[in-house]
Amino acid sequence: MPEGEISLSRPDITAQDERLVLEALRSGRLSIGPMQEEFERLVASAAGCSHGIAVSSGTAGLHLAMLALGVGEGDEVITTPFSFIASANCILYVGARPVFCDICPQTLNMDPAKVEAAITPRTKAIIAVEAFGNPAYMDAYANIAAKHEIPLIEDSCEALGTVCNGRRCGSYGRAGVFGFYPNKQITTGEGGMIVTDDDHLADMCRSLRNQGRPARMSGSLGNWLRHERLGFNYRLSELNCALGVSQMRRLDELIERRREIARAYIDRLRSSSEIMLPTIEEGCELSWFVFVVRLSTEYSQRERDRILLGLRNHDVGCADYFPCIHLQPPYEALGFEAGSFPIAESVSHRTIALPFHTRLSERDIDLVCQTLELMNSREQLSRD
Ligand SMILES: *Cc1c(COP(=O)(O)O)cnc(C)c1O
Repeated sequence: MPEGEISLSRPDITAQDERLVLEALRSGRLSIGPMQEEFERLVASAAGCSHGIAVSSGTAGLHLAMLALGVGEGDEVITTPFSFIASANCILYVGARPVFCDICPQTLNMDPAKVEAAITPRTKAIIAVEAFGNPAYMDAYANIAAKHEIPLIEDSCEALGTVCNGRRCGSYGRAGVFGFYPNKQITTGEGGMIVTDDDHLADMCRSLRNQGRPARMSGSLGNWLRHERLGFNYRLSELNCALGVSQMRRLDELIERRREIARAYIDRLRSSSEIMLPTIEEGCELSWFVFVVRLSTEYSQRERDRILLGLRNHDVGCADYFPCIHLQPPYEALGFEAGSFPIAESVSHRTIALPFHTRLSERDIDLVCQTLELMNSREQLSRD
């Protein structure tokens, strides 16, 4: 990171976090220990679920959810084209076919009517994503899933700690999945967590993450080399879990700070006619994963890209969250093509993720907003 750059994201690590990681390191127990147990308990409780299964990444969690539900060859799974690629890749991992549904232009989540229309006898699951942490329609997807007796998997990797009308993100579906990459609300470096109320699904995920060993080890190591099914090593080390425990203890404080930053951005940008701000559903308390604004429809993708470049040249970190999944090479190779999901495509051409983390100062936010306005006006001037 160049000196003076305002970074797009940054983890919030304190001396308290360092102490707990060091404690785990010195304990001699580096995998499958008390930190994992405590981390699982804390995340499950933050999601209002009875089980938490810590895994090595959010992606690993989504993969295990697909396997534990028995999704495989010949099955279809409904999901959104407007997300981080992991939410669809897990469908390809198990040999199933992603069926994308276009999004609503306000919420950026799948249009529930399109989800229901996409259901066929082959539909084996729905993976819903809270785009940028927005829980819009999660209850609608849950109702559709229940009506058609199809499991809903909630990819809540962007929504840890968000509560909507009393309901916690992660708890809408048969299972929810969180991710703890360094840009998320809390981090473990790398890591993820599956949460569920389903005892059987939980045991299946515990077994699958641990080389197919029995979900519960007997007291001795008697069954350590018994592998009941084809499993994976998707475990999360005690060092990662210790960082997770310490971060979870600060979750409320971290979220409060993110809300302050989001409010500061909204105050400064709300009067701009060029910029659309994120919408927040009524009754929802967002935990704010990122702060993504959208340029008005007069802007082309090329203009947006030039604005991103201009921001970076002025030391403002930024990103084009998210290019559509169906237009990424592995999906184009499967026959998906431009024009299929026009709303997602149009939105993805005009988004700008601005610097967003707990250490931003008022001055940083002023600088970001002023630079953004400058870049926008430069684009407009070059247009006429
Ligand atoms: C971050 C994220 C994931 C998981 O990412 P990992 O890097 O594997 O932890 C999955 N889905 C979405 C929508 C995400 O934002």
